[in-house]
Amino acid sequence: VLDLGIENVADVGFVGFRDGKVTGFEREPAREVIDARGGFVGPGLVDPHTHLVFAGDRAAEFEQRCQGKTYLEIAQSGGGITRTVEATRAASEDELVELALPRLAALLSHGVTTAEVKSGYGLDVENELKMLRVIQKLNARQPITLIPTVLALHSRPDDKWVDTVVNELLPRVGKLAVFCDAFVEKTAFTADETRRVMKKAVELGLIPRLHVDQLTPGAGAELAAELKAATADHLEHVSGEGIKALAFAGTVAVLNPTSTLFLREAKYAPGRALIDGGVRVALCTNCNPGSSMTENVALAMSLACLQNGLTPREAYEGFTKNAALAVRRPDLGALYAGGPGDAVLYNCASYQTLPYHLGMSEVRTVIKAGRRVWPGST
Ligand SMILES: [Zn+2]
Repeated sequence: VLDLGIENVADVGFVGFRDGKVTGFEREPAREVIDARGGFVGPGLVDPHTHLVFAGDRAAEFEQRCQGKTYLEIAQSGGGITRTVEATRAASEDELVELALPRLAALLSHGVTTAEVKSGYGLDVENELKMLRVIQKLNARQPITLIPTVLALHSRPDDKWVDTVVNELLPRVGKLAVFCDAFVEKTAFTADETRRVMKKAVELGLIPRLHVDQLTPGAGAELAAELKAATADHLEHVSGEGIKALAFAGTVAVLNPTSTLFLREAKYAPGRALIDGGVRVALCTNCNPGSSMTENVALAMSLACLQNGLTPREAYEGFTKNAALAVRRPDLGALYAGGPGDAVLYNCASYQTLPYHLGMSEVRTVIKAGRRVWPGST
């Protein structure tokens, strides 16, 4: 039971948990009581876009970037995504599990109790399936619920990759993934290649979601809407037509402000225009080694307010109810009687402090399925 005290919610004494669920707003304490006075209590956060399973270290590449080397120069000297793919292919499933656990622990410390995780660094059939099995193993090894995505079209290992994805990879994914993702960009995959892969994915019961309009405008949002994708992610260069299409299709926009910062791109996604245009906007950490090496939810919320034009309330909803919609789990992202017992107790008294306290976590206690999981365990 979380003791809310009188200053938190007038007329409410306690939030109760039993058998992994929220029982309701109780007036009497139970077996264990957590003192929540002075802080506010909200639902467990959802990070709807990560690539946190990978091997290899690209800190030296970051130093090169800071010395002025271009992405192309780094890629030509064996860096970039190629380095991550080589290291991920060389790593065993158990090694990838061990490498991902501290990243998940960092997300947990930020209040995340559900996270989407993508494959995409295998880039051959066996290594993509290996990554998905790693996500499955990680689900059993730590408290955060992981929602797996096969990022079939991430980078192009050879000219036949789209054929291989359609004919060999997707038919073997089975229950190892919920979503199928693609990176739609001039330098990555075309709209027609994406349509072909997503047609097969939908036949197999996978839900489309897309990386679109990140580096250049490419009518990617319109494609996401056409494919009835759950989400359109990035959207730095979305057009007015694209915003209309997303609103009409009910596709959730997932903004990645930490990657816009990390890549030193000039243009942040137009979060204000998306929300004013009727699009539901979620946020993510996009934790990955190339373009957003962070698990910092608070920083993503701050940037969303300072650079994407969101209000603090919208930024908070970006990691709660809208993030839950982004991963097609509308039962998450809110605290209610009978709902999942995933909750966060903060040090601060209001959601307003979360983006205001720049890049710092206000999380005091994280509860998953009714159990205290951070800090420590009981
Ligand atoms: Zn991504």
